[in-house]
Amino acid sequence: MNVQAHNHFSQRPLYIAGPCSAETEDQVLCVAHALHQAGIGIFRAGLWKPRTHPDAFDGVGEKGIAWLNKVQHSTGMAVATEVATAEHVRICCNAHIDALWIGARTTGNPFMMQQIANELSHYPATDQPVIMVKNPISPDLDLWLGAIERLQQVGIQHIIAIHRGFSTTASAPLRNQPIWSIPIELHKRMPHILLLCDPSHITGKAEWVATVAQQAICLNFDGLMIEAHCDPAQARSDAMQQITPQELQTMLSNLQFRQQNKVDAELLTLRQQIDETDEQIWQLIRQRMDIARQIGQYKAQHNMPVLQNKRFEQVLQKRINWALENGISEETAKQIMHLIHEESVRMQMPDIPPHKIG
Ligand code: PEP
Ligand code: MN
Repeated sequence: MNVQAHNHFSQRPLYIAGPCSAETEDQVLCVAHALHQAGIGIFRAGLWKPRTHPDAFDGVGEKGIAWLNKVQHSTGMAVATEVATAEHVRICCNAHIDALWIGARTTGNPFMMQQIANELSHYPATDQPVIMVKNPISPDLDLWLGAIERLQQVGIQHIIAIHRGFSTTASAPLRNQPIWSIPIELHKRMPHILLLCDPSHITGKAEWVATVAQQAICLNFDGLMIEAHCDPAQARSDAMQQITPQELQTMLSNLQFRQQNKVDAELLTLRQQIDETDEQIWQLIRQRMDIARQIGQYKAQHNMPVLQNKRFEQVLQKRINWALENGISEETAKQIMHLIHEESVRMQMPDIPPHKIG
């Protein structure tokens, strides 16, 4: 990585933007110049696109490398593209592409990750690109950590993690669920790895990108990777989620950065109320478990099975309805009730120690 690219990657917040796919030379240069005008220092465009269906546009491949080199030379921007194989890595490293990202479908594949890491290890540290590791498709922190560890093991110096949401069965309107606790835990385990958010792939919808970007900034992410296209409706991949460079500029200028850490009497009072409320919640959980134990005794005396699915479904539905009426998400209500139920069931099987369950 040269000095100029290094400077772009030293910016905080760190912004990376560009189209989902490189489509034509004109399209790449049009977006890059508009983004450069908007103050963006790092350009992204996918050359090899992992698509779900075999007939979908799967990228222009190696011929797009020359277009990215043109972006570097004509704007001074750093450029990034996705790699999924050792061959992609070799092509990009030889062409001095400044940064590579590992897509969600590749992070979750340890063999591919190892091949990519091995290929990168052949280049001297000064020639190595920045490597950005998107989270795997499934909400699996260990797979994400493991992919990063494979790169660390071969001595890659500049590694960034990108949170692009997880594919789940949740009925939420987003394309990929953010499950913020996972990137937050990744940051706890690897505090020296920069953490970016990709709100484009989380939302799947241009109108919501700004909101999720703001959420990431509220959670202290180091920056954003955002898909931008001069004519989103005509994009050959991810048309629904791309925004124009103009919209991106407006969005970034509206982001609110909160840097104060002022703890005054008002906040202390509210925190005290939180502590008191938590105490009540815990008292009630204990009370619920006492009752569950009594029910366990009843079931044992009357030869009834511990698990009563029909009853639990009724309890669950009642709480989901209540949650929805009170502005709490269905997913959260489900998770809380499943945890409480699991513990209640355990209370009714007192011989099994908790750490043996699951
Ligand atoms: C992309 O960035 O265009 C992409 C394919 O991302 P992901 O791997 O997050 O789906
Ligand atoms: Mn995309």
